[in-house]
Amino acid sequence: MNRIDVLGVEFDDMDIVEAVELAMGFMDERRCAYAVTPNPEIVLASRKNRKLASAVRAADMVLADGVGVIYASRILGTPIKNRIPGIDFASALMARMSECGKKVFLLGAKPGVAELAGERLSERYPGLDICGVNDGYFEEEDNELVLEKINAQSPDLVLVCLGAPKQEIWMKNNAELLNAGLMIGLGGALDVYAGVVERAPRKWRKLGLEWLYRLIREPRRIKRMIKLPGILFAALWRRIGG
Ligand code: UDP
Repeated sequence: MNRIDVLGVEFDDMDIVEAVELAMGFMDERRCAYAVTPNPEIVLASRKNRKLASAVRAADMVLADGVGVIYASRILGTPIKNRIPGIDFASALMARMSECGKKVFLLGAKPGVAELAGERLSERYPGLDICGVNDGYFEEEDNELVLEKINAQSPDLVLVCLGAPKQEIWMKNNAELLNAGLMIGLGGALDVYAGVVERAPRKWRKLGLEWLYRLIREPRRIKRMIKLPGILFAALWRRIGG
């Protein structure tokens, strides 16, 4: 498979159709593979957080989420062709899974949100079996209970929406303990599926301006976003041999 290095994170450069096929294959293997969708924030954080870097490195699928990653890959002279926002990948995958009645477990977000997301997803993908949900604010000592709850359903897919870097590290630490086909780390996706948070309109997304739309809707994200051009400077520095 074609993997492209962007500042230490190795991305799989594939389109969404190939990604869905690969994911369906992982589900059949049932060894609890996991997918990550790093955005510039995760790429930058991986350079400082060794646990996050190791969790991303061990992932079975690494998809580029965010225009910043694409621009950085171009600056580095090894362009990634396909940007796949994690939520688009998960939606395409669930559409495919609904054709064959596969099971999804939703893990993450504030209490009540995963239930709501489950209801909305069942309406959108009638053939999909939402086999269980759990919020993302459980204590470390309750982790085993969460694992038991998931394993009792033996889902084909687990959406792990605990925010970065928690979700990537959780997937790496728990993959071997889970009876599931595939996990995907998806950040705030359950909030979007539940309708609690609105996604940017299609035009904004096409222009790669989803980040700006989110910033306008949630100005408190400025503290996180102000660091993002850092990925371009880091790529430039690497390219000129710094
Ligand atoms: N979250 C969680 N458990 C935690 C911390 C966060 O379930 O301990 C959830 C939070 O409620 C939100 C998601 O993780 O639904 C993170 O959303 P954010 O918008 O920060 O993620 P992004 O999409 O930007 O990666």
